[in-house]
Amino acid sequence: MTNFVLFGPPGSGKGTQSEKLIAQYGLIHLSTGDLLRKEIKNGTPLGKEAESLMQKGQLVPDEVVIGMIAGALDSNLNANGFLFDGFPRTVAQAKALDNLLTLKKTHIKAVLFLQVDEDELIARLVKRGETSGRADDADPAVQRKRQDVYKNETLPVADYYENFDKVQRIDGEGSIDEIFERLKSVVETV
Ligand code: AMP
Repeated sequence: MTNFVLFGPPGSGKGTQSEKLIAQYGLIHLSTGDLLRKEIKNGTPLGKEAESLMQKGQLVPDEVVIGMIAGALDSNLNANGFLFDGFPRTVAQAKALDNLLTLKKTHIKAVLFLQVDEDELIARLVKRGETSGRADDADPAVQRKRQDVYKNETLPVADYYENFDKVQRIDGEGSIDEIFERLKSVVETV
């Protein structure tokens, strides 16, 4: 099993590049944002708990997302590997993920960290807000909040993985195909 984390701020292109990576390498895509949006759509209690936090650009509690990931790992025991997208977003989540993977006798091979300039991020999010139908994309105040949460709570996750020498920084600017080529060359050499 070969597992990767696709890491980067909101708007860095994780969703777009995830689709291409899973198709190329036969990985299972685990996006906690997508899983949470599915819970909201299905009107589950978990979805109801998550919805107002997501609309404000705040994080859903660690135990909620860790529980979802644990369930997804258990339902895909024969997977080639997983691509984690939007998870882990806190150091506690990263540690929990390490424990879950250790129990399954596997680990994170590399953290693919997409680097995008902040002005470019905001420009992309404004554009996405026009088409994605996501309430958390449409409001500039929520976008700013999401970038703040990223800096304060999620960036330390990169430091955590640096301790294990797992972080690969990739230029996340340019065309979708250019960025994908850079990702592929890292995935194939780590
Ligand atoms: P995303 O689709 O990854 O941008 O996530 C959208 C929203 O879902 C985030 O702003 C958070 O409110 C919530 N969310 C997604 N993944 C996580 C996570 N790993 N931990 C906490 N909250 C999350």
